[in-house]
Amino acid sequence: MKNIVIFGAPGSGKGTQSDLLVKKYGLRHISTGDVLRAEIKNGTQLGQTAKAYIDKGQLIPDALMIDILAATYDALCPCEGVIFDGFPRTIPQAEALKQMLAERGTEVSVMLELQVPDDMLITRLVERGKVSGRADDNEETIKARLQVYHNQTSPLAQWYEQEGKRVAVKGYGDIADINAELCKAIDNV
Ligand code: AMP
Repeated sequence: MKNIVIFGAPGSGKGTQSDLLVKKYGLRHISTGDVLRAEIKNGTQLGQTAKAYIDKGQLIPDALMIDILAATYDALCPCEGVIFDGFPRTIPQAEALKQMLAERGTEVSVMLELQVPDDMLITRLVERGKVSGRADDNEETIKARLQVYHNQTSPLAQWYEQEGKRVAVKGYGDIADINAELCKAIDNV
């Protein structure tokens, strides 16, 4: 059973690389951003709550996000393993994930960090915004999201380092080359 946390700033390529890893390893993919966008599209109460945060580039509160993650996980598993994409984003979320998986007799196998400089992230996200239709892919919200990433999410790199689970990879250049680095890390687990 391989549970992988794919980690990095908005626009670092987590979604693209997750799709490739899902195909290769037969894993389930949980993107919390996708889960929230589906709730918004379906006009649910949860979607309405989430939209207020997403449109400002802010994080959904931990307690709510942790419940959503557990419900999503339990709907998909038992399974061969999961790629967690966009979760955790805070240290309390990482602690909750650790506990949730332990209660289900498993754990995070590896955390894969995609490292991309901010100026490149901004260029990528502005380009994505032209086709994604995502309300949060505009320059003002992109800058807020990057700030949130640096303040609230990037300390998780150290957290997973201390857990002995972190592998950092250069997240720019050829997509296939990046993927090969990630696969090497997974196969080493
Ligand atoms: P993403 O698609 O991963 O870039 O997520 C889009 C937005 O959804 C984020 O900017 C947050 O507002 C919200 N979101 C997604 N995942 C989380 C999470 N784990 N914790 C809090 N907010 C989240």
